[in-house]
Parts: sequence; structure tokens; C-alpha cells
Amino acid sequence: MQIDLEQFRKPCTCGKTHEISVKGIWIDEGAVRHLYEMLTEEVELGTFIAPVIVWDENTREAAETAMEDIADICLEDICLESEDLHANNQGVAILDENLPEETDLLIAVGSGTIHDLCRYVAYHRGIPFVSVPTAASVDGFVSTVAAMTWNGMKKTMPAAAPLYVFADTNIFKEAPYRLTASGISDLLGKYIALADWKIAHLVTGEYLCQETCRLEYQALEEVLSCINYLNRGDSEAYEKLMYALLLSGLAMQMIGNSRPASCAEHHMSHLWEMEIINDHIDALHGEKVSVGMIQVRKRYERIVNAIRDGRCKVKEYEGMEEQLLQRTFGAKGLYEQTLEENTPDPMLLVSPFRLEEMLIPIADILDEIPSAKKLEKILKEADCCVSMEQIGLTDALVEDSLNLSPYVRNRLSFNRISKMLEYEV
Ligand SMILES: [Zn+2]
Ligand SMILES: [Zn+2]
Repeated sequence: MQIDLEQFRKPCTCGKTHEISVKGIWIDEGAVRHLYEMLTEEVELGTFIAPVIVWDENTREAAETAMEDIADICLEDICLESEDLHANNQGVAILDENLPEETDLLIAVGSGTIHDLCRYVAYHRGIPFVSVPTAASVDGFVSTVAAMTWNGMKKTMPAAAPLYVFADTNIFKEAPYRLTASGISDLLGKYIALADWKIAHLVTGEYLCQETCRLEYQALEEVLSCINYLNRGDSEAYEKLMYALLLSGLAMQMIGNSRPASCAEHHMSHLWEMEIINDHIDALHGEKVSVGMIQVRKRYERIVNAIRDGRCKVKEYEGMEEQLLQRTFGAKGLYEQTLEENTPDPMLLVSPFRLEEMLIPIADILDEIPSAKKLEKILKEADCCVSMEQIGLTDALVEDSLNLSPYVRNRLSFNRISKMLEYEV
């Protein structure tokens, strides 16, 4: 299947004409064959004279046979060590050192980390890259930004989107199931991200694109329709999941940032990755997202109940919790960076009066998210992570995680807005 990208480029109801920089996406058994053909034709990809494959030990093993012909016509291939490979400044340095000066095209063969490293390095060298996902594990393949840990801070950095995506079912279907489950989890997190976006729009007038939301909901429907067939290895189900992940990535491309796909649930994941209140955990991106989502959903449920019972009161904003931030982020040497990230404070856009007025519409938006119980059921059936314990954390960290995570990004979530609400009795 080839995704029709033209449909996303039309002038949109939000008043913008969205840009999609990726030129083509194939999701097929044998999609890499198409990459080979394009590299050997005399136009476009064929005009690059020094393409370089970037993979790691695991992803090379997964794709090596299918990509033998491609490797033969590349300048070289760079195999990064899988252990301790992360999307951070060390990873970038290793790739940069090993990449020949004359490289004019990167072929990223891997999942999230390899893609983030390639898109970052490609952007800084001013060269294009093409994507060969080896697992349906994240929605960031076509993203224009790289999610990096930079000197300990979790950052979204400008980067290049791939020119083309060649998602070969024969390759990504064979990935360890844990990676696939992580992709499902990353997608289900959109329920929270979309509600957060809609609420921020409602309360502060932040820009919102309905078409892009629609696309994300379509991605959610796709994943729900295939979820029960994935752990049986059904090819069509895998293609649907990959399609959904790429749709979500396109939604981010349309907006130019991760607003449609990442909010309070991802903030939880980022906080744990920054190791502010916890030790290092080995969980995958999606695993942290689904566990974060469940906890956020539970808090949102408590607040909806309070709103419906008339127990939820709006209070004046008291500013950033500087003492708390100093004790936590500060203890890791990240106090200044955290303040900087939160300047200007997105909460200054929230008027108590407006918030008060919107409590019922907010509750209505929150009620569109499936309940924590329902989400847990869906996730468990697909062998995804739901509990803190499963990702190496304890329940004792839940409250601190919910309270601190909004500060990892300058992006308004309802979780952050709830700092102006009194709802516990
Ligand atoms: Zn739009
Ligand atoms: Zn994600």
C-alpha cells in the first residue's frame, strides 16, 4: 500500500495549508525492493552518489538479508553498538564521527533511536535521509523533530523528516513483539494528547486543527481494529499498525511539532527518562507512555467526578512551584534549564474566570477518553504495559510524577492546568 499524501496537502479548514515534506510512503511486503529500484534509477534517489546505511547490531540482523543488494551499492554501512545506544548527544557524536565526509544520503534502518539520530545528523549536515523502519514501535518515523536527551534534559530538537519511508512488512513484522506492543501504546496515548490539546484550545485559544485531530482519531481507530491480530503475527494487522503510526507522524508534520501526538502522557515518560525522582529504567518509549497515560487518565477521572459533583473549585494561579522544582530538578542540576524551558510560563495564559466557565465543557472533553479501566483492558489484551511496576517504578512515585511531569515541557496539558483546581476532599 502506498499512502496518498496529496489528501493532506490541500488547504485546510483551520485556515492553513499544511506542509508535508515526505514525498512517498510504502507499506508492503518487499517495500525495500522499491528503495533498491529508486537508488538504481537515474533520477531522484539514483542521483545520490554516496548513500550510507545506518543501523545497529539488532536492526542490521533484522534487515540485512532483505537489504543485501542495497548495501552493495552504498558507500558503506555504519553499524552502531545496540547496547546503551540512545538518542542523546553521545549517540550523535558516535554517528557523526563514523559518517564519511562525502555522505550525501542517509538510509536509516531501525526504530526510534536510529531514526532520531539520523534525522538529527542529516539536518545538521544538510543532507536528506530515507527511512526503513524495522519495527512498528513508535510514531516518530516521519516526524520533523527529534526527541533527544541533551545534557540530561529531554528536548525536542529541529531535525529532518525522511524523503521517503519504505516500511517492509517482511522486516517490521518479525520485530520482537515487545517493540510492536510499544507502538500500540504510543498510539493509544493520543487519547490523552488530543484531549489536552482541545482543552488548551478551549481555555487559552491556542491554535487547534480539527483535521489533524481527525487524522489522529483515525489512527486510533486503525490500531483498535487490528490490535487483536497482532500477537498472532497477521501481516495485514501489522500493516495497519504501521499505517496508523505513520498517520500520527504525518499529523505532527502537518502542525510542525508534536502537539497532536504528545502531551501529559508523554510528559510522564520524559520525566522518568530524565531520572529526576527515579533511577534509570530500561522500559521502551511506548511502555512508559502507556503507564503514564493510565495514571494521567485516573487523575482526570477524579477531576471529572469533582466537576460533575460541584466539588471542583478554581483558584488563582500561584506561579511555578519553585521550591519543589529546586528540590527535584535542582538536585540533578537541572533547575535553571527547567525554569528556562518554562519561560514564558504557559499557565499565564489561563484565566481563572475562563477556566471556571469552561469546567463542564472540559469534563465533556475528558469523558471522550476511554476510562482508565477500559484502557487497561485494551492494553493488557495486547500485552502492553499498564502498571508502574512493569516498567521498574513503584506506585509511591505516582503523585510526584503527576505533579512534576508538566514542567518537562513548555506545553499546556490539562494536568498542568489542574494546578489551578482544588478537587480533593
Ligand atoms: Zn489544519
Ligand atoms: Zn511517542
